[in-house]
Amino acid sequence: MEPDSASERFPVRPVVTSFAPYTPGRSIQEIREAYQLTQVIKLASNENPLGTSPLVQRRISRDASLAFRYPRPGSPDLVHSLANSLGLDSGRLIAGNGSDEIIDLLLRVVGRPGESNVVLLEPSFSIYRMQAGLNGLDIRRVPLNSDFSFPWSELEHTVDEKTACLFLTSPDNPSGYTAGPEEILSLARRLPRGTLLVLDEAYIDFAEDPEETSPLSRLQETDNLVLLRTFSKLYGLAGLRLGYGIMPPWLAGLIQRIKLPFSVNILAERAGIAALEDTTFRDLTRETVISQRKIMERSLTESGCLVYPSQANFLMFQPPGNARTLYQRLLEKGIIIRPLDSYGLPDHLRVTVGREDENGVFLRELRSILSGTA
Ligand SMILES: *Cc1c(COP(=O)(O)O)cnc(C)c1O
Repeated sequence: MEPDSASERFPVRPVVTSFAPYTPGRSIQEIREAYQLTQVIKLASNENPLGTSPLVQRRISRDASLAFRYPRPGSPDLVHSLANSLGLDSGRLIAGNGSDEIIDLLLRVVGRPGESNVVLLEPSFSIYRMQAGLNGLDIRRVPLNSDFSFPWSELEHTVDEKTACLFLTSPDNPSGYTAGPEEILSLARRLPRGTLLVLDEAYIDFAEDPEETSPLSRLQETDNLVLLRTFSKLYGLAGLRLGYGIMPPWLAGLIQRIKLPFSVNILAERAGIAALEDTTFRDLTRETVISQRKIMERSLTESGCLVYPSQANFLMFQPPGNARTLYQRLLEKGIIIRPLDSYGLPDHLRVTVGREDENGVFLRELRSILSGTA
C-alpha cells in the first residue's frame, strides 16, 4: 500500500509525513558498486583519518563476551572517566547515543510543543531543525553573515522569552568558522532567563588552541550554557555512537530522568573509556589533521578554489566552475566528498581532512579535473 493512503487511514502525526530525513554522505560500498571501482576514498563525513584506536579495538575484543549484559543506565564508568579528564563534576555530564541523542533530549526537556521556539543559524547542522520540528517546536532561522561568521546581534534579537534553545556550532559545520569564548559567553549572558545556549563543540579538538577556544573553563560565568561533544570525530568512534553533553546539574538530572535507560550500549561505554586513555592516538589524530589541513588549504587555493579558514577536520571551498560537476567527476574517480546542496549551498563543497595519502590522491585528481587534463 502507498504510504500516503496508509497515513490517511492511520492517525500518523503530520510532522512525520512532512519530515525531510537527514542526508548522509555517500558510502564507500555504494560508490564502489555504482562505478565498478576497487579503490574508494571517503572524505565526506569528517571521520577520523587514522581509523579506530588500537587500544579501543583491543578493549572491544576483550569485552565482546559482555554483550549479553544490559549496560548500567547513565554510563557511570564513562561519566567518571570524562569527569576526571575534563576536571568537572560528574553531575554536569550526560552520555548519549551520539551527541544527536543529547540534542533530541534537550529539546524534549525544555521545549513545550506548540509553544516554544528554537533559534538556529542558516545554514547549520540539520539535526537541530529536524529534532526541533519533530518535537513540535517553532523554528526561527537567522542567516549567517556572508563570510559565514555569526550575526551576534541578530541572534540576540531573534530570541524571545519563548525561545527554549539557541543552537550554535563552533567550529562550525560546514564552514569551519570558529567563534571566540568571549563572544559566546557574552551572548549567553544577554539571553532571557529561560533560554539555553547550546554550543555544539563536535570539532573543538581540531582548533589550533582548544582550551583557549572553548568556554569550558569559564562555565561558572553563566548558568544557561550547554556544551555538546562527541566521540565520533577525534576519538574515531562514529560507528559506535557516543557523545556527551556538559550542562547545569538541574538539566542533567531532568535528562537522566527521561532518557531511554540503555541508549549507550555496553561496548560503546567501554570503548569511550579506552579512547580517553589512548592519548597517543588522540594526539596523533590532532597533529595529522592540523598539519594536513594546512597543506590542503594551500593546495586548494593554488588550484583556484576559494577556501574558507577552518579550525575543524574539514575544509569548505568554492571551486571555479560548477561544484556539482566537480563533485560528480571526483565520484567517478572513487573520491567521495560532500556536496552542500542539503545546506542550501549548491556552489560550495566540503572535504574532510584525511590521511596524507588520501589527501594526495584527492588533490591530484582535483587539479587534473580543474585544469581540464582529466
Ligand atoms: C559530526 C557532528 C556531530 C556528532 O554527532 P554524533 O551524533 O555524536 O555522531 C554533532 N554536531 C555536528 C555539527 C557534527 O558535524
